Amino acid sequence: MHILVTNDDGVHAPGIAALAAALRSVGRVTVLAPDRNWSASGHVKTLHKPLRLKATTTADGEPAFASSGAPSDCVALAVLGAVEGPIDLVVSGINPVCNLGHDVTYSGTVTAAMEAAVWDIPAIAVSMNGDYGHFNDLDYRPAATIARRVAEGVLRNGLPPKTLLNVNVPSGTLDQMRGQRVTRQGHRVYYDELVVRNDPRGHPYYWFGGDEPGGTVETGTDLGAIANKTVSISPLRLDLTAVDLLSTLRDWGLERDDLSEEPTPPGRPPS
Ligand code: MN
Repeated sequence: MHILVTNDDGVHAPGIAALAAALRSVGRVTVLAPDRNWSASGHVKTLHKPLRLKATTTADGEPAFASSGAPSDCVALAVLGAVEGPIDLVVSGINPVCNLGHDVTYSGTVTAAMEAAVWDIPAIAVSMNGDYGHFNDLDYRPAATIARRVAEGVLRNGLPPKTLLNVNVPSGTLDQMRGQRVTRQGHRVYYDELVVRNDPRGHPYYWFGGDEPGGTVETGTDLGAIANKTVSISPLRLDLTAVDLLSTLRDWGLERDDLSEEPTPPGRPPS
C-alpha cells in the first residue's frame, strides 16, 4: 500500500512527522507537502505559475518533498505523477487545531483530502484540538494513533468515489478521550472582526481579527463530539448540492424552455 502524506502547515511542521511515522506501519509512505504554512488557504489549483518540488526532510529527519504549491496542489502533483507509483490513500495533517463544521472549505488540511477525492483516491483529513500558539509543544502521538487506525479501516473497506473522512481528535491522551463517534458536519459560528489600520504612508489596510470561532454544540455533530472530548469521524462528499432546494427553485419558475420572453413570476399577476 502506498500512502501519500501531506498537510497545510508546511513540510517541517511537527504534526506531519508524527502522522507519517504512525502510517509507516501500514504501508509505504511518501511525504509531499507545501514548503510553507498554507492554513486556511482552501481548495486551490495553481494554474498561472510553475510549481517546484524539492527533496527535504521532515522534523524527525525522514525524507520528504516540499512543493511551492498549496496543499491541494501537492495532492494533484503526486496523483498526476510527480512521485513514483500509484497512490492508494491520502492522509492530510495533523493540523494543530480542529477543522469542524464550516471550517472544511477554508481548511488546507481538509481541502488536500478533497483533492484526493476529486481523483477517486480515498482520503482522510486529521486535525487535533490543540493550539496554534503551542504548535511545537503539542503531543501529536494520540492523534497519529487514531489516524493510523482510521487509515487501516479505509484501506480494508474502501470509500465510495468523491468522498473523504474528516477526523478531529480531542486534546489529551487516548484514555482521557471519551471514545470515538461517527458524526455529521455541525454549525460553526465565526466571530471575525475587520481590523482597519493605516500604513506608514497613510493608506488603510485590512486584517481579519476577532475571537476564535465557536459553534453549536449538538449531539451527533463534529462540534458536539469535540466539546464532549470524543474523537469525531465525519464522512464528507464533494457534491455540495442542497437537494432540498431543487424543487423549491423549480417552484420559483427557474426552469424554462423558452429563454426569449420575460418570465411571469409565479403567484403574481402580470403587470
Ligand atoms: Mn494548518
